Amino acid sequence: MAKPVVPVHDFHSHTYLTDGALSPVELIRRAAVAGYVTLGITDHAGFGDLQRLITTLKADRDAVRDAWPEIEVWIGVELTHLPPALIPNAAYKARELGAELVNVHGETPVEPTAPGTNAAAARCELVDIVVHPGLITPEDAATAAATGVFLELTFGRGHSLANGHVAKAALTAGANLLVNSDGHVPDGLLNAARARTIARCAGLTDEQADQALYQNPLRLLDRLRTKHPAGGRGLRVL
Ligand SMILES: [Zn+2]
Ligand SMILES: [Zn+2]
Repeated sequence: MAKPVVPVHDFHSHTYLTDGALSPVELIRRAAVAGYVTLGITDHAGFGDLQRLITTLKADRDAVRDAWPEIEVWIGVELTHLPPALIPNAAYKARELGAELVNVHGETPVEPTAPGTNAAAARCELVDIVVHPGLITPEDAATAAATGVFLELTFGRGHSLANGHVAKAALTAGANLLVNSDGHVPDGLLNAARARTIARCAGLTDEQADQALYQNPLRLLDRLRTKHPAGGRGLRVL
């Protein structure tokens, strides 16, 4: 029997503020119509653009929040192609500027992301998700399991080549998996069926897919609501 329609959680997407096609408001609207209950907007950032991105995204999110209460939108960044040694400070600065969600662009198989990025992100407790971590090592997956940093199974084209490896590494290490879109265009977003397909095609059983699609997102939401309530102020740099 087909599974009932279920809510979609997605903690990784982009707007035209960086390299996406949609405005923040259109992205929120399209996600709500696609069945999302949770959307993370996480445009690409280094250091210089953090203030503009966070401020602009928050202003749009806050403006439409009351009109579309069915979707909860979290404002964040995807720290992208930074030298690994700078990731903790960038995550700290993003939190100080009010980022509610901090993703790190992991070592995808299709870009020359600096070696050591996965390790730096997995051990930084100011980071929420290592997105598309590619051929993540058992050691880095174990670090993520210990710190509670989440690992992503992705719909992002090219990045998704490593989903099977990521699933295996995370399950072996006991790290938490999520399914995210890395959406840059309307067709790049998830829906309930697509999210389950991504999880199952990565080798997860139906039960493991349920964990990645529903239980783990609730754990991350709990972490977002409780761990960094003041936007990171007062937290030490690891
Ligand atoms: Zn990325
Ligand atoms: Zn991305």
